[in-house]
Amino acid sequence: AAKSLGRNNYQIYEVSAEQAQQQNMALKSGLRHAEHNGELRVFYQPQVDAVTEDIVGMEALVRWEHPELGFIGPGFFIPLAEETGLIVSIGEWVLRTACRQAQEWERKFGLRLRLGVNLSAVQLMQPNLLEIVSSALDESGLDANLLEMEVTESISIKAAPNLVENLHGLHRLGCRIAIDDFGTGAASLDYLRKLPADRIKIDQSFVRNIGVDPDDEAIVRATIEMAHRLKRGVVAEGVEIEQHLQFLRANRCDELQGYLFCRPLPTPTFEKLLLERQRLLTAEASS
Ligand code: C2E
Ligand code: MG
Ligand code: MG
Ligand code: MG
Repeated sequence: AAKSLGRNNYQIYEVSAEQAQQQNMALKSGLRHAEHNGELRVFYQPQVDAVTEDIVGMEALVRWEHPELGFIGPGFFIPLAEETGLIVSIGEWVLRTACRQAQEWERKFGLRLRLGVNLSAVQLMQPNLLEIVSSALDESGLDANLLEMEVTESISIKAAPNLVENLHGLHRLGCRIAIDDFGTGAASLDYLRKLPADRIKIDQSFVRNIGVDPDDEAIVRATIEMAHRLKRGVVAEGVEIEQHLQFLRANRCDELQGYLFCRPLPTPTFEKLLLERQRLLTAEASS
């Protein structure tokens, strides 16, 4: 019985692995044409001031609108894009699209919102990263100091040639650097010490456990405290409920991002949000 169970298990595993591989291959070939076919979308999620809850920035988050499968999240296709090297052109497309959009909103609404754009390790190792970023800034007219590049600390500094130089170069261009998913990688403190980071983004796995796990609460508190002592800003991700907000505000976190305020929105919906905000401010000013 044990033997047949073993064989069955093996078979189940083998079939599903094969299917997964086939699916991945189909998706990789589809991804090759996604940009050219206009199937990529950038969504925007607001970042709000922890005290006033006013929108102060937004993060650009890519989605793939597959013709048959519908929306595919980046958690699924970014790894495939990294494996195939497609991330370089997809990442550049996201950067140019988001910079243009941010500049358009600045013009339309007179708002100087910070724009966060995620960079993958593969992009950070590109020798021409700085040329791409400065051309995206020139072409869009966006102020460099409104652009914040988000870097995850899953990348080993030692294993990534050009990484440190590129980040210093981005800084010289006037861009800000944020360490994304802070606390989840193996090298959080090493990153803080060696990279020119302006901000820390506390990972949502810690934020989720506010009110649940006192250890994670202690980590969140200590991270905010440390960021401030190092004169860095701090943003919490994955703020979903009022209790998270109260805790983060009481502990002086600077900015918040999460479903409690808003989900990532497609361009027209985000624009409606800005319009709404503008109406409110105008009404307040004239009353
Ligand atoms: P990230 O940069 O840490 O982005 C935050 C993720 O958390 C986003 O997932 C966002 O939709 C999600 N999120 C925001 N608020 C909440 C919340 O309150 N609760 C929960 N449960 N989730 C929340 P998304 O859009 O699926 O992106 C996943 C990851 O994919 C991103 O994590 C980022 O690492 C990567 N990614 C997204 N866009 C790009 C891109 O243009 N380039 C690169 N290289 N990576 C990207
Ligand atoms: Mg991010
Ligand atoms: Mg994150
Ligand atoms: Mg992430």
